[in-house]
Amino acid sequence: MTHLATPKLSDEAGRLAALYRYEILDADPETDFEDIVRVVKAVFGVPMVAITLIDTDRQWLKAKTGLGVSQTPRSIAFCDHTIRSTMPLSIEDATQDPRFAANPLVTGEPGIRCYLGVPLTTPDGYNLGSLCILGTEPRRFTPTNKEVLREFGRLVMSKMELRMLARRDALTAALSRRAFEEHMGVVVRNPITSRLPMSLLMIDIDRFKHVNDRFGHPVGDLVLQAVAEAIRSSLRPADRLGRLGGEEFGILLGDIDPGTAYALAVRITRQVDALSLPALQGQTVSVSCGVAHWQEHGQGDAMSWIAAADAALYRAKNSGRNRVEVAGSPTSGHQTRPTVPPPSLSALSRFSADEVARRLRDSHGGFRPRA
Ligand code: GH3
Ligand code: MG
Ligand code: MG
Repeated sequence: MTHLATPKLSDEAGRLAALYRYEILDADPETDFEDIVRVVKAVFGVPMVAITLIDTDRQWLKAKTGLGVSQTPRSIAFCDHTIRSTMPLSIEDATQDPRFAANPLVTGEPGIRCYLGVPLTTPDGYNLGSLCILGTEPRRFTPTNKEVLREFGRLVMSKMELRMLARRDALTAALSRRAFEEHMGVVVRNPITSRLPMSLLMIDIDRFKHVNDRFGHPVGDLVLQAVAEAIRSSLRPADRLGRLGGEEFGILLGDIDPGTAYALAVRITRQVDALSLPALQGQTVSVSCGVAHWQEHGQGDAMSWIAAADAALYRAKNSGRNRVEVAGSPTSGHQTRPTVPPPSLSALSRFSADEVARRLRDSHGGFRPRA
């Protein structure tokens, strides 16, 4: 049996942070979890099984069988009660339980009567949600039922841990290419997030082959880690960093206007340029960066968005490296509206990110957020 940390039942902010670390909310169905609910359904002979995760104000179902909905308000979620304890929550007949008798899931569809739920607890003690079985007839669950469901709950948690590890690149802890593209797909298909302004940054280390040739592959690996760390230090919690290729990174910036995204890209390139790694014996590292704004270049799908950021990165490489280029900006040759060129990187490098953003807004009409 694994040693678990002390439960943290009253740290809601920590619980939500832990939930978001798994980056699983709103993800597409996955066979591992679908398989578990199917097996649990057969083992217990119940009509409904769900793996639920409790977000700020909703309960989202990672996997389900026998249930039509993919989420419910948190206020009516049985599982929101389950996560308040380390023990299974067992309800023989919800109509006789003052906490649930008036619940619309009891009085209306699907007409829940019995419920058994076990909390899904992270190794550091947070209850993210629950694995639960439900029926439309009263039923008393036995201690064995509870212990068996607990074991399945542990299986769900270990699948979630493995899933998190599999999505990460071992060297830099950035998302793998596959996980990054998957996340982009989820964000651009979601009716809420796809309406928010977003930017995609593509970053490639300059002349990285020289680093490997001169100092060896292990030093190259150190540089990759240092660059990833420098990038990460500029990101906000909801931003996503992916390692898309050997020495290429993608960054998805959510809810950001083009001017601020550009300023962030400039700050990242400056931060990498300022790295001083003893192993490089005085040689500096730099990156080139392409920026594409979703609303202007996504054309409704992730692939055209990536292509636009890639094209901007290519221009940054061809125009001298260690710089940021913006998709569709004047030097690209396919500008869509009259603009004045953005200030050069060297001119901006004297200023803070906020000042950079302000100057860009003032100098370049195209960077103004749309009303
Ligand atoms: P450019 O400025 O045009 O991007 O030049 P570059 O040398 O960075 O580009 P190129 O694509 O020629 O070389 C990329 C190098 O990255 C080649 C490869 O050996 C190295 N590389 C890829 N993955 C890793 C890795 O995981 N570790 C190390 N140390 N090197 C890697
Ligand atoms: Mg490179
Ligand atoms: Mg490359």
